[in-house]
Amino acid sequence: MDNVVKLVFEIAKIGKSNKTFPPIKEVKPFHHFFIDDRIDELNELDGPWTRREIVARYLLLNAVLDQGPDVIGVRGLLKDVTNNLYKNEIRIFHRPLDFFKELNISIDNILLSHKSIKEIRSKDWAKTNNSNPERYNLFFAQSQRGLISINEILDYSVHRWGVPLSVPYLLEKDLSIKSKISVQPLIDYLESFESAEIMAQQLKSNERYGLGSALGDKASHLFSKWYIHTFQLNYRKDDGWSEWSYETPFDSNAGRVLFRTGFLLSVADLRDYIDWGVIQKNKGKSGKNYIRVTNIRGKKSTKLKTDDLMNNYNEIVIHHMKIRERISNSFEIQKLPNAFLLKSEYGIGDFDDGLMFIGTNYCFNNEKPNCVKCPIRNSCYAFQKDRSLIEDFTT
Ligand code: SF4
Repeated sequence: MDNVVKLVFEIAKIGKSNKTFPPIKEVKPFHHFFIDDRIDELNELDGPWTRREIVARYLLLNAVLDQGPDVIGVRGLLKDVTNNLYKNEIRIFHRPLDFFKELNISIDNILLSHKSIKEIRSKDWAKTNNSNPERYNLFFAQSQRGLISINEILDYSVHRWGVPLSVPYLLEKDLSIKSKISVQPLIDYLESFESAEIMAQQLKSNERYGLGSALGDKASHLFSKWYIHTFQLNYRKDDGWSEWSYETPFDSNAGRVLFRTGFLLSVADLRDYIDWGVIQKNKGKSGKNYIRVTNIRGKKSTKLKTDDLMNNYNEIVIHHMKIRERISNSFEIQKLPNAFLLKSEYGIGDFDDGLMFIGTNYCFNNEKPNCVKCPIRNSCYAFQKDRSLIEDFTT
């Protein structure tokens, strides 16, 4: 277990010095919110809403879009479309209804931005993903089979952009019917939950305001990370909103790094992952074994058992995530990093930033990751002991 703990801390340390930001400050209408990478005067009004509210609305849409294979491309798409729409006085985060009122212009801008981003990014993307530039596509949707690319722009625009923009609009409408006024209806709603973990779950499944199939589990936890760690939008500072109060958003980059480094195989056997459908034999590119990282959610470690970790784990699930009332005798794999890092100088956001930094700069989804330059090569099981974890598996 010492190796796993060491690895988690190493990754979090790398994340702390390589923090990633969705490029909101490059969005012209929000540029003046920022001093360096920090948002200044979060409670300052910008039109009818606080800066905090506007940024939260942007991040909610970004989290929904932030799926598929090219995160940089997706974030560039949202930035470009927002700049262009605001230039046309279509102020979708100040007046979400503008997106639908001017749907023709919204759709034209999404298509145009996609075309120019494809020209810039597709060759690099194809190289690191063993693919063809022509296959570059940022239009994705959740389906029962997982993430699928779609070509129908109306479906993509209304489902992926329209649903998250509708949440603050519906909150506004509901408040006005009750004759209540708020300068940050989305923030009030988000922070009405006991913890950031519960907020993440409710973002997806709340009966009235849940985004349902528009938002995956990874995306809802990514939103929590941005909200608490990256932009520190949270008013609440109690344990329920701490740096350890939400799960790591596991995506394919995170899954690949955690598999190759040996983290996943230290907490459960290959056989377990096959039984859970996390490792799907010969279902990946070129007949390799496919790692479907989202299937880890809720699965319990079959290997780790120590009293020390048990205390930390229970503190996480009872007092930080607030999803259990009684102590538990088993560990969900996805919550283990929280237990390792609890009360350290690193939060779960640092850990995720580290995974993203390594996954996108070194640990490519092909047979030739840049291991010799990778900052965790000395602790990486695949690099040190078993190359088959790189060669035979894909995400
Ligand atoms: S050493 Fe290689 S396989 Fe291991 S995490 Fe780094 S890039 Fe990935």
